[in-house]
Amino acid sequence: MSLEKLANVIFPDVDKTPEYYIQKYPKRNLKKGAKVVRYAPSPTGFQHIGGIFAALINERLASQSEGVFYLRIEDTDQKREVEGAIEDTIQTMHNFGMDFNEGMTGQETFKGEYGPYRQSQRAEIYKTFAKDLVAKGLAYPCFCTVEELAALREKQVAEKVTPGYYGKYAKYRNLSPEEAIAKIEAGEEYILRLKSPGNAENRVEIHDLIKGDLSFPENNQDIVIIKSDGLPTYHFAHGVDDSLMGTTNVIRGEEWLSSLPIHIQLFEMLGLKRPEYAHIPTIMKNDNGSKRKLSKRKDPEAAVSYYKEVGYPTVSVIEYLLNIINSTFEEWRAENPAADYHEFPVDLDKMSKSGALFDIVKLNDVSKNVISKMKADEVYDYYVAWAKEFDKEMYELVTADEKMSKEIFNIDREDPKPRKDYAKWDDVKEKIFYFFDELFYKETAEQVELPKTLTLEAAKEVIKVYMNKYNANAASQEEWFADLKAIGLDLGYCAKRKEYKANPDQYKGMISDVAGAVRVALAHRSNTPDIYTIMNILGKDKVKERFEKFLEI
Ligand code: GLU
Repeated sequence: MSLEKLANVIFPDVDKTPEYYIQKYPKRNLKKGAKVVRYAPSPTGFQHIGGIFAALINERLASQSEGVFYLRIEDTDQKREVEGAIEDTIQTMHNFGMDFNEGMTGQETFKGEYGPYRQSQRAEIYKTFAKDLVAKGLAYPCFCTVEELAALREKQVAEKVTPGYYGKYAKYRNLSPEEAIAKIEAGEEYILRLKSPGNAENRVEIHDLIKGDLSFPENNQDIVIIKSDGLPTYHFAHGVDDSLMGTTNVIRGEEWLSSLPIHIQLFEMLGLKRPEYAHIPTIMKNDNGSKRKLSKRKDPEAAVSYYKEVGYPTVSVIEYLLNIINSTFEEWRAENPAADYHEFPVDLDKMSKSGALFDIVKLNDVSKNVISKMKADEVYDYYVAWAKEFDKEMYELVTADEKMSKEIFNIDREDPKPRKDYAKWDDVKEKIFYFFDELFYKETAEQVELPKTLTLEAAKEVIKVYMNKYNANAASQEEWFADLKAIGLDLGYCAKRKEYKANPDQYKGMISDVAGAVRVALAHRSNTPDIYTIMNILGKDKVKERFEKFLEI
């Protein structure tokens, strides 16, 4: 009776019961095995690549099982909230090919029958469940000040006992309801704590869908469930929300693993159905031989915005993350080169239990593959969209001559083994700059990259002759090369490696050096696609002009 009174003093405005909400949100009508999962970020404005990683696993499992993938906003820590973060999250997820079936659709709006999907708008619901716990003697107000808690901790550390608010250290655990009411009525500040029935000597066992069978000491801490601002802690909101929202699988970062005994206990005390758990390994980075977490401060690649800025297609990032999720993805991709990644079945059983290693080199490989399979028109569209935002100069140049740009992007693209030049759009400029006079003629002599076997003088000697003799109308690569070879032989270059090796003094070099000189004159680089193709795209006049200007370098 007095417990009920205490519950009413704490929550005078709560007039509903847990049963009301349990009835209000009935079970979804889904096919057997359908998973209901969620992405549950805090709207802090910073999106970590680990968030995309977690979301992707959730989204894939929902989609594969014809389940539900919903967006819940965990904004109970209002200090950390940033304007516009919810819309930003939704847009980013959309860009990464992930749309939500339910949940928040904007800062204030949502779709679905289980809302609101924003925790700060669910205060009434949490209070209803908390009130019920107080009335049952399973939760109580705690009036400790920050200083008192700090002193308690110090004492525990000195005594070498487990720190925390529990058992005999829990000062207000056994306060009578009357005493508690008197303090509240006197205006003392308080929070609500769970009256944990746990004993740290006992163990709880649970099966995690990624980590396997786990065993923990039971939770005996009287954890905070409602903070002084009236909002719930993560633990309490997790219990109430994932139950009422019908989550079947909580797939979240492994930083929550140590809280699992609390969560198991909470579901029991609330009398609510507990979801299954899967704890995802943290994304790590190899830093000079030692593994560490991807850091928001030190690693630009920790931020989702980075991938957009440097121009990784989102599909590349997704495919790379699928590689981390299931190492079998690579084999699948090799066997199904043209398939959509959505056809790859993500399997939690095949996920590595420990640190997922993030490797930019591997991401680049994956992305080069992805881009190499695109059509030239697609590359053009992607590139233009990226450049418009991040490289105005290239945007102007590329769009000024769309036809030529598409020819450039089509070099070696229709091949059975297409070129793998670009991992991200900011790689493009260095690979194609020489097609644009505005960039090409800006180069200084130091930027001209000569093949190891050729000096600038020797290259100029070759061009001096070649520019007056070459067949500008060669009809094929073969014809073009035969012409170049003839000029080279005339100049004293050798066509056969063996002969050259035997008598290097008799020759100026190899025919490949002649080609190298032409390449450098046209592109200032020693590694480019086929010269004949470059000449065709540049056109006769530009080729001639470049030879002339090369002699002036
Ligand atoms: N808001 C929590 C986080 O961002 C969600 C964890 C969870 O998925 O339960 O870490």
